[in-house]
Amino acid sequence: MLSQEMLALGKKSSAIREIFEYSKKRKAQIGAENVYDFSLGNPSIPAPRQVNEEIRRLLTCDSVDLHGYTSAAGDMQTRQTIAENIARRFGFSADAGLIYMTCGAAASLTVSLKALLQPGDEVLLLAPYFPEYKVFVENAGARVRVVACPEPRFGLDLQALENAIDQNTRAIILNSPNNPTGAVFPEEDIRGLAALLTQKSAQYHRPITLLADEPYRELVYDNTFVPYLPNYYDDTVVCYSYSKALSLPGERIGYILVSPKATAAADTFAAICGAGRSMGYVCAPSLFQQIAKVCDGIAPDLSGYDKNRRLLYDSLTQMGYSAVYPQGAFYLFVKSLEPDAAAFCEKAKQHELLLVPGDSFGAPGYVRIAYCVSTHQIQRSLPAFQKLIEEYHL
Ligand code: PLP
Repeated sequence: MLSQEMLALGKKSSAIREIFEYSKKRKAQIGAENVYDFSLGNPSIPAPRQVNEEIRRLLTCDSVDLHGYTSAAGDMQTRQTIAENIARRFGFSADAGLIYMTCGAAASLTVSLKALLQPGDEVLLLAPYFPEYKVFVENAGARVRVVACPEPRFGLDLQALENAIDQNTRAIILNSPNNPTGAVFPEEDIRGLAALLTQKSAQYHRPITLLADEPYRELVYDNTFVPYLPNYYDDTVVCYSYSKALSLPGERIGYILVSPKATAAADTFAAICGAGRSMGYVCAPSLFQQIAKVCDGIAPDLSGYDKNRRLLYDSLTQMGYSAVYPQGAFYLFVKSLEPDAAAFCEKAKQHELLLVPGDSFGAPGYVRIAYCVSTHQIQRSLPAFQKLIEEYHL
């Protein structure tokens, strides 16, 4: 017999993955240049020069050392460098002993949730949200409760959050810059959230942990300020990843940071070590821990994404689409031209435009366009977007 839950999960791939698979088939049929695949958040800018330089240098070092196991929580020098960089960049006193190296943000989240949650606990998700959160929370034996961030800005609705928090609330996941909206939660929202969580934690006599899901931290435009959450709220656990910042999604490297000011910080970290152990997430890839030590905090060259962002936003809004102006990440969240976003995506498909319906992000009526593609693809796709809107308006 198999786990029926895991069987069901394995048989049902995510909406994004399904479109991506369709795209591969369609490209084989009509040629890759004729399919406008905007489905997947796979970085399209090269990794910073220092990444390859460091890989080359490391390959000249002792290979037994290089490829061997590190401590379960990760190489101490790497963790120390990360802590120093955090202090320098964000003015926050991180503790290397409370940093756990992981295989990207997905592992950071699953490990943290497993460490924090008990049956009956609830985790608040802010819609629109990354669809895998639900899978991760349920796998940790807890439930999600969704609180919508209101259009058109998709900022926090503190009143709705206050109504949603009760004695079962154990954590809230905040993702900024956001997938799928590209929005960055402003400092004012973060201050409001921190005050609310402090008040509710006291009221229910248990800390509510703020999980800061930060794979897009380095991907911001126009000098937008992204508050560093541990500076605002003590019970914060940061789930960081180098997937997007260094264009290394396939290498699976990131970390978990427990704020030293968190309630029972040492025990929280011990539970994270336990969760990592129980799920086999020990000793993140050694080679890429070494890369993280040298490349942590390098600012990626965002000019390519920025160009795509402006081109796509300006072109689509001039045509008559309405969209959230993205301040970060590499997604454009566009209002569907009919209430059923899945039906809209099917129509878009007829024009070879592959978009993701907002429903799986908990935001029906919208579609996500991942613009981490070549500028050429965007330019070539614009007539198709024009024909699509004409279908609705003629
Ligand atoms: N969180 C969000 C919001 C994401 O968009 C992604 C990936 O797209 C992840 C987590 C997982 O990132 P990683 O590839 O580092 O596991």
